[in-house]
Amino acid sequence: MRYLREFRDPVLAARLVDAIATVATRRWTIMEVCGGQTHSIIRNGLDQLLAEQVEFVHGPGCPVCVTPLETIDRALAIAARPEVILCSFGDMLRVPGSDTDLFSVRARGGDVRVVYSPLDAVRLAEENPRREVVFLGIGFETTAPANAMAVVAARARGLRNFSMLVSHVLVPPAMAAVLAAPENRVRAFLAAGHVCAVMGTSQYEPLVTSHRVPIVVTGFEPLDLLDGVRTAVEQLEAGRAELANAYSRAVCADGNVVAQRTLDRTFTVCDRAWRGIGVIPGSGWRLADEYAEFDAEIRFDVTGLTAEESSECHSGDVLRGMIKPPQCPAFGGRCTPRTPLGATMVSTEGACAAYFQFRRLGADHG
Ligand code: SF4
Repeated sequence: MRYLREFRDPVLAARLVDAIATVATRRWTIMEVCGGQTHSIIRNGLDQLLAEQVEFVHGPGCPVCVTPLETIDRALAIAARPEVILCSFGDMLRVPGSDTDLFSVRARGGDVRVVYSPLDAVRLAEENPRREVVFLGIGFETTAPANAMAVVAARARGLRNFSMLVSHVLVPPAMAAVLAAPENRVRAFLAAGHVCAVMGTSQYEPLVTSHRVPIVVTGFEPLDLLDGVRTAVEQLEAGRAELANAYSRAVCADGNVVAQRTLDRTFTVCDRAWRGIGVIPGSGWRLADEYAEFDAEIRFDVTGLTAEESSECHSGDVLRGMIKPPQCPAFGGRCTPRTPLGATMVSTEGACAAYFQFRRLGADHG
């Protein structure tokens, strides 16, 4: 357990913990949406500091974790082709598909490269005019603007050998799906600040109104999270349900309007499958028809590919807040970061990886 004196501002941290303990009359179930927030909560022991006031359940906000199996299988099929350079962020290489992963494809001679920006992939396409360069474009509203810009840049440079395998997902429909589930226990959300930096806080107003659920936009530092929890618990105890911004140093109501315009031009909202969860209507982006020539699914004819989830991995239950990672029978035994069965154990933002890395190993952490 991490002690308060280890926080950057221990006095403020103690004040926030005291404020939460003073106002809470019961233990509230709060979902932090983003995997980065999950790791911060577990790494800094906020779940232990607030064990009597808050049960944290971990939401579907890790992009690698929710990328559907079909998308991984499509990437694997494309990466195996000799003319292709498949570019991806590093996390995706170890995510298991139905039979293998991108690392294994690379080991068998596939040209799979780790890049740090989608624009690196555009540059690779310019430098390799005889090769097909494909970027695996996944993630939430946060990463989408850079991916949109890569497609716009590829068109502006007249590149015909660049395409993108797009599997973007959107946060508000996923939160609505969590709330609509009959087994839902979530009473308030900590929403991810970086998503709101792009899309603005106002996108959550309809959810707050329709579900009467407090949503507090927070950052990722432990003090940000404590402040967000305090705001959420105060609302819950007062019977209020409001949209609050506890991350105003980075986020405003409207978000980044320029980025939103680029997204509107480049992507179209679509139904999207979430790994372990299933299809959530209107929860994804695909390339707009105007940019269909850059769609790798069409270019490499992998649209019809389907896949069956492993019954051994319960990541869908983890991502909906129904169980904690140690409650999965495979956790820490058959499934470890070295031998992952699911993406939530692979990703640096995955809840299973957080519990394993920071030694929340027993059922008492369920
Ligand atoms: S511990 Fe492994 S098998 Fe279990 S839910 Fe997490 S990733 Fe899936």
